[in-house]
Amino acid sequence: MQFHDAKLVGSCAYQSQWPTSNLPEVIFAGRSNAGKSSLINALCNRNQLAYSGKTPGKTRLLNFFEVDQRVMFCDSPGYGYAVGGSKGAKDFAALLDPYFAYRTQLKALVLVLDIRRIPNEDDQLMIDYAKQSHLAILIACVKSDKVSRSQQMSAIAKISKTLQIPTSSFIPCSSLKKEGIDQVWNKLNEILFEQ
Ligand code: GDP
Repeated sequence: MQFHDAKLVGSCAYQSQWPTSNLPEVIFAGRSNAGKSSLINALCNRNQLAYSGKTPGKTRLLNFFEVDQRVMFCDSPGYGYAVGGSKGAKDFAALLDPYFAYRTQLKALVLVLDIRRIPNEDDQLMIDYAKQSHLAILIACVKSDKVSRSQQMSAIAKISKTLQIPTSSFIPCSSLKKEGIDQVWNKLNEILFEQ
């Protein structure tokens, strides 16, 4: 596990607030409680970093973290907070439509899924956004510590089929046990710096 220098550089409702940056960017998305904050914290080797996005007033914003002065992570609201109901869906679209359309340095989506759950329509919506914007897609299947190795494989096969994303884009991981975290970094480095 490596040390990473990560800091919150913006909590943004509007395009005018997005941090100015030339760094390649990755958006993290997932339903609330999937384990998105824990994954970002594990990737940055920090305990509390992404929980700042859960503080009152920040749950419906895009939270930007600059990591090692080489990558920007954008933490999008957990769908439970943001989507719930048609007003929520509208707010979510108002936040994300311009982001996917105009954030030119955005290169990849990390979709965070609880490995034990079948993706829902909001997960599918994120995949659709990513495809429209020609992003690389990485699926982090977190909470892998909750199931056996063979259950991990069959869950990934099933989710891959549901989302129509190849199994090579999936990484089972556990933020709790720090398993699969290096693999997520390896894949991100490959996507952002080697293609
Ligand atoms: P978020 O709402 O998507 O940001 O989810 P959190 O990161 O806050 O995690 C939701 C709950 O799942 C918390 O109780 C975490 O401790 C737990 N959790 C997150 N990742 C893991 C994991 O990899 N394994 C286990 N066992 N629990 C996890």
